[in-house]
Amino acid sequence: MSTEPVATEVGRDFIRDIIQADLDQGKYQEIVTRFPPEPNGYLHIGHAKSIALNFGIAQEFPGRCHLRFDDTNPVKEEQEYIDSIQADVRWLGFDWGRNLFFASDYFDRLYEWAEQLIRDGLAYVDDQTQEEIRLSRGTLTEPGKNSPFRDRSVDDNLDLFRRMKAGEFPNGARVLRAKIDMSAGNINLRDPVLYRILHAHHPRTGDKWCIYPSYDYAHGQSDAIEGITHSICTLEFEDHRPLYDWFIEKLPVPSQPHQYEFARLNLTYTLLSKRVLTQLVREGHVAGWDDPRMPTMAGMRRRGVPPAALREFVKRIGVAKANSVVDVGMLEFCIREELNRSAQRRMGVLRPLKVVIENYPEGQVEELEAINHPDDASAGTRKITFGRELYIERDDFMETPPKKFFRLSPGNEVRLRYAYFIKCTGVIKDDSGEVVELRCTYDPATKGGNAPDGRKVKATMHWLSAATSKPAEIRIYNQLFSNPSPDASNFAADLNPQSLEILSDARIEASVAESNSMEPMQFERQGYFVRDKDSTPGKPVFSRTIGLRDTFAKEVAKG
Ligand code: ATP
Ligand code: MG
Repeated sequence: MSTEPVATEVGRDFIRDIIQADLDQGKYQEIVTRFPPEPNGYLHIGHAKSIALNFGIAQEFPGRCHLRFDDTNPVKEEQEYIDSIQADVRWLGFDWGRNLFFASDYFDRLYEWAEQLIRDGLAYVDDQTQEEIRLSRGTLTEPGKNSPFRDRSVDDNLDLFRRMKAGEFPNGARVLRAKIDMSAGNINLRDPVLYRILHAHHPRTGDKWCIYPSYDYAHGQSDAIEGITHSICTLEFEDHRPLYDWFIEKLPVPSQPHQYEFARLNLTYTLLSKRVLTQLVREGHVAGWDDPRMPTMAGMRRRGVPPAALREFVKRIGVAKANSVVDVGMLEFCIREELNRSAQRRMGVLRPLKVVIENYPEGQVEELEAINHPDDASAGTRKITFGRELYIERDDFMETPPKKFFRLSPGNEVRLRYAYFIKCTGVIKDDSGEVVELRCTYDPATKGGNAPDGRKVKATMHWLSAATSKPAEIRIYNQLFSNPSPDASNFAADLNPQSLEILSDARIEASVAESNSMEPMQFERQGYFVRDKDSTPGKPVFSRTIGLRDTFAKEVAKG
């Protein structure tokens, strides 16, 4: 795969150019696109690209976009997936209005058209096994071989096809194939399968059918039935286009859709294959389809990724005709940018270290004012309580600091955000030598964080009062795969053993702990966090959506 430069002009791409040209030529009054998921899994960020493209086009041009479930394989499809897909498309911010369709709605018509192909001598029932069909299909360099059943009479074919439909034969006993050309250079035209026998209950058609149409046969015809003008799919289907066109030409379909192909989204450190995602769930490598480490929309939603960030991401990567791999850093950038704008600021201490302010009166508490968003005054302020016992971040203290360490160390003075300057005067350790508590003094003249004598400190740190903050579990996520291009055929070997880190004795502001809000927020200097559904009344659980930029962390540390 090559790395392609990102489309320069945001919002413009070769597909939109084609559509504009078609409109300019007066080919269509209205542009009709569709997003056609197979309900055999949850949607992932690759689908978000396709959704934004298809629904986006319908918004930008006079037109509409259908949500159509490509539900032709009942063995793998479930109602749970149909429901989740609808929720995810809505969450991403798109709406199909009344245009919700199912390929299974067209099973009757597809069946009639198959009989029509038989009557026209363009389809036949093949009794060969799947394996025999595969072996006789030939290769890229060798032509295929005609099936011994290829020249059955129309009557025999009709009779057998009707008996297939009536359930007379077991799974796999026969298939219906198009009669095209076993020596075609394009293997997709070597008598592709149109129907297979599958005695399986369908979520929508129940037990009515025991033969089901193939993707290639169902897809274009569903497009034609719905009056789709531009049927946009990913590049793997480029070689299927001649077959798509063959059906449209041979069948009495009510419209003439055209297929266009674009490059699917690939991301570093990520696998976007439903087969792999299904296996991750089934084999318990993750906690479910909505595990925050999953590249699914459900996972990203649970992780606190705002839908606006995903829309911005797919806009920035653009739509190209050549495959490429997008750096996952680009997605993270879009998430940070959106959250920086929208998330309120709070304080959370991930790995607490206790601090006792020795010159602060025992039992005294005071309220200080903290701002909720540095760039948005309308977000207002809130009160935070200061007291004699505090928590700071364990990493913000070093007993014997290296040269460039400006945070807390014995004798060094730092600012506590919104509060006072403090200085470390003593270190208390447990038997194993681990630091368990710091003794500090504060300067009452520095209330609000500035010294009247103008003296400076080099670090500003977040903190919480021991008495009023609440305990929380915090979950930190890292890439699910440690390999930038994980191997889809042996993904287990590339799983990152450190993809989830649980911090079970974190502290957060009381109002955060007690709120049921699912809005992500920034814990200052730590990143963006969102309440997780695993929270219980006594123990809130917060997931880190994403950390802060390093540069940002440095800026804050400078104070
Ligand atoms: P997978 O290959 O992971 O099984 P799929 O393509 O079979 O996915 P569908 O449910 O058939 O999944 O996909 C619905 C639509 O989303 C299709 O039009 C497909 O081309 C598009 N799509 C799927 N994956 C991507 C991706 N990574 N990037 C862009 N579009 C995608
Ligand atoms: Mg597919």
